[in-house]
Amino acid sequence: MEAWQQCAESAITLAAPSQPQEEACTTALAITKALRARVRQVWRLPWENNWKEVWWRLLQHGVVAAGGHGWPMKWGTACPCGWQHSAASPRAAQALQLREHVFWTCTGASAIRRAIQHNLPGSVQLLPRHVWLLEQPCQTVRNEVWNVVRVPSCTECHVKS
Ligand SMILES: [Zn+2]
Repeated sequence: MEAWQQCAESAITLAAPSQPQEEACTTALAITKALRARVRQVWRLPWENNWKEVWWRLLQHGVVAAGGHGWPMKWGTACPCGWQHSAASPRAAQALQLREHVFWTCTGASAIRRAIQHNLPGSVQLLPRHVWLLEQPCQTVRNEVWNVVRVPSCTECHVKS
């Protein structure tokens, strides 16, 4: 649950970096509580578990090569897109930056986000909490449909990074 909370805080601050930390924590806590039901829905989907695994590991901060287990990239290396985490940050922060990069800002993740955004109603902005925590981006997209769209795309983000 602590990892889920951290994932939720990361998703919120990534979308709104100037939001006060206390407010982000409160919102993340509410999201984390609601996440239990969504996780149960996803595990009931009649798919092979390997389609769900990357998303599950993303929540647990356990995706290898995406900051999982608190491991940042090796010193002096960069993502294939050229991105590097801040050398001045502590290792744990670097690992979180890497997760945010792989699953949100890297070129592969950005392309997937654009494709999803293109299919959402015009005024709806896709946010990390919609993608990582499976929150519905709007009422017109049903939960079950959203889970089917989002869960495999986490696998795609990881593969394309
Ligand atoms: Zn990258």
